[in-house]
Amino acid sequence: MAAAHADNRYICPASAIPSIVACYRLIYNEGMNAEERARRRSEAAYAYGLHTQRADGARLVTSLAGGLDVLRDLFLARVFSDVEQKWGRDSMLVPTSMLEGERRARRTIEQYLVVESTVLVRERSYVPAALDWYLPWLAAWRLEGGASEAQAAGLAERAAQAEPERRRTFTSQLDQVLPEAQHAPLVLFRLFPLAAGIVTAVAFCDPAEARDLRRQQMAILPEIGDCHECNGNVLDNGERCRRCGNPVWSYEWLTAN
Ligand SMILES: [Zn+2]
Repeated sequence: MAAAHADNRYICPASAIPSIVACYRLIYNEGMNAEERARRRSEAAYAYGLHTQRADGARLVTSLAGGLDVLRDLFLARVFSDVEQKWGRDSMLVPTSMLEGERRARRTIEQYLVVESTVLVRERSYVPAALDWYLPWLAAWRLEGGASEAQAAGLAERAAQAEPERRRTFTSQLDQVLPEAQHAPLVLFRLFPLAAGIVTAVAFCDPAEARDLRRQQMAILPEIGDCHECNGNVLDNGERCRRCGNPVWSYEWLTAN
């Protein structure tokens, strides 16, 4: 898929996201440091090799991490854009409750991405024992502080639920930790779980499934295909379109109709 985007002048790396989220991260010094992140991913690649007897663990982990990082950061950017509009750009006071809300929202989003990624891995049988192995494996290196056995079991219960129920649980949890999320366009919440599936399909080298999930997103928001830069195509994990926001579209595109 990367070859299809060899001429990727319009594709920005995740690090180019100019959002208030990045500023908050600097202020709050949240998240794992680079060394800890690299250690976790290395261990995850090794464990993946043991479980699947495949040799592409490092590639898979790098691809998944790049894709899920972009989804999490862009989703947070969508939500915080509303907050920024509400508070104004010149406000130098960042309430502690807002920073704490951002931290908890990030974990809530990460948990949801773990659940939705597991759902597709289970449906497509990408690895054996999706609920019992893949979910705890992903949660262990994606969630800050890891996930206890009880927490992983709770996420596995969610992954076994039907889609509307999983989404309701996510929006309910997000509203509790970050009430501002209620201002985000509803279509964002319908597109987001499909985006998690696309990232997972791309990481597991299943482009046909990724394109099918994109078609499902286009059925929800046809304007996705109108972008003259990415044409609504599935991007490689870690990339995004700077014009429309693909794989998590900007507020203007989400509210196009
Ligand atoms: Zn685009």
